[in-house]
Amino acid sequence: MTDAATLAERVRAGELRLYELEDHADADTAAAARRLLLAAEPGVDLETIGEYAFPAERAESNVENMIGATQVPLGVAGPLPVDGEAASGSVYLPLATTEGALVASVNRGAGAIRAAGGASTTVLQRGMTRAPVFETSDVREAAAVADWVRGSLDRLADAAESTTSHGELREATPYVVGDSVFVRFVYDTKDAMGMNMATIATRAAADVIESETPASMVAVSGNLCTDKKPAGINAIEGRGRSVAADVVLPADATEDRFGTTPEAIAEVNTRKNLLGSAKAASLGFNAHVANVVGAAFLALGQDVAQVVEGAHAITSVEAREDGLYVSVTLPALAVGTVGGGTGLPTQSEALEIIGLAGGGDPPGTNGDALAEVLAAGALAGELSLLGALAGRHLASAHAEHGR
Ligand code: NAP
Repeated sequence: MTDAATLAERVRAGELRLYELEDHADADTAAAARRLLLAAEPGVDLETIGEYAFPAERAESNVENMIGATQVPLGVAGPLPVDGEAASGSVYLPLATTEGALVASVNRGAGAIRAAGGASTTVLQRGMTRAPVFETSDVREAAAVADWVRGSLDRLADAAESTTSHGELREATPYVVGDSVFVRFVYDTKDAMGMNMATIATRAAADVIESETPASMVAVSGNLCTDKKPAGINAIEGRGRSVAADVVLPADATEDRFGTTPEAIAEVNTRKNLLGSAKAASLGFNAHVANVVGAAFLALGQDVAQVVEGAHAITSVEAREDGLYVSVTLPALAVGTVGGGTGLPTQSEALEIIGLAGGGDPPGTNGDALAEVLAAGALAGELSLLGALAGRHLASAHAEHGR
């Protein structure tokens, strides 16, 4: 084993590449060597980045060329009572953020949800997607391949499921564009977010398509999946978990908490979240769902790039006889409690706060529960921001928190 200074010197001399250091030292020493290199050129003090509280080898499957860890402040909002099908009980929702007032806002929404007796939540569907693109010779051949795919779900499932003990292929829907055929594979990935699982399984299913038809795969992802890009197909068909939450807040509680009426909050929702979003051709008809999804994803070891599809949510508000009805529906929430970043020590501890670290019994229930908790958190965020806008106290709330 080599010490950090020697490793850094060997990189400077051109004997080693930055990514080869773990072959010559443990992961912490390799990270220290990279910090030494950066400290010299471009000349920065990395003392805080180097102060991380877990062995670097725990992150070996999560990052390459590790130099340390970024620490994002972590707060909790709650208690947040969730009356779901997989989740039930009150939780403190961990939120990692640098946006002052965000946790306070979600906390205020959680208080309103408590006053209403809790948020109801439900998972509408599970379905992580991967859509390879195949080339054929012309539109007729493409149509024939699409027909073969439509009639071969069982064969495709046998191949796909041979690669995983948890994943189940639910659908394989072909789309033809000229001589290209896209097949959107949809999997129940249980407690895993499932993007690696779905990609590996899809590769096996694509082999069957290539051996049984004239189609040739061009790319295992043809962007019709659609991963980490804004896309109508996710907003309409769903991706990952499709999940919804709602609450009815009595009119007097609405006035106590927000200093305004259910009617005023409903009008803000209609003109802002519905009309404004329609005019903007937005895929998100909500106030700030991405804020809660993003902060919770960071805290809980989710893939933060998938906040893109997580933000395709619709918030509805009605002034009813029994009070203020608010719902939020997130069609494409890519979440998991195993795999990816969920096993990292701080993220796994944050999952423990909501009682959802690791696989569920039966598998899939922890993933469903996480989706429900995040939907309830998003609902709290929507309620709070809409209430602040309707009560015209958004600016003063930010001022109170020092910005
Ligand atoms: P993963 O860490 O690659 O795999 C998780 C594995 O956990 C599953 O494959 C499964 O093994 C196993 N497992 C154990 N208990 C389980 C349970 N209760 N439910 C479900 N699975 C269980 O994670 P992933 O969720 O498939 O992929 C997430 C990662 O993919 C993230 O790091 C993300 O950043 C990354 N990602 C990859 C791509 C890509 O194109 N490959 C794209 C976007 C993001 P078995 O399959 O053997 O059952």
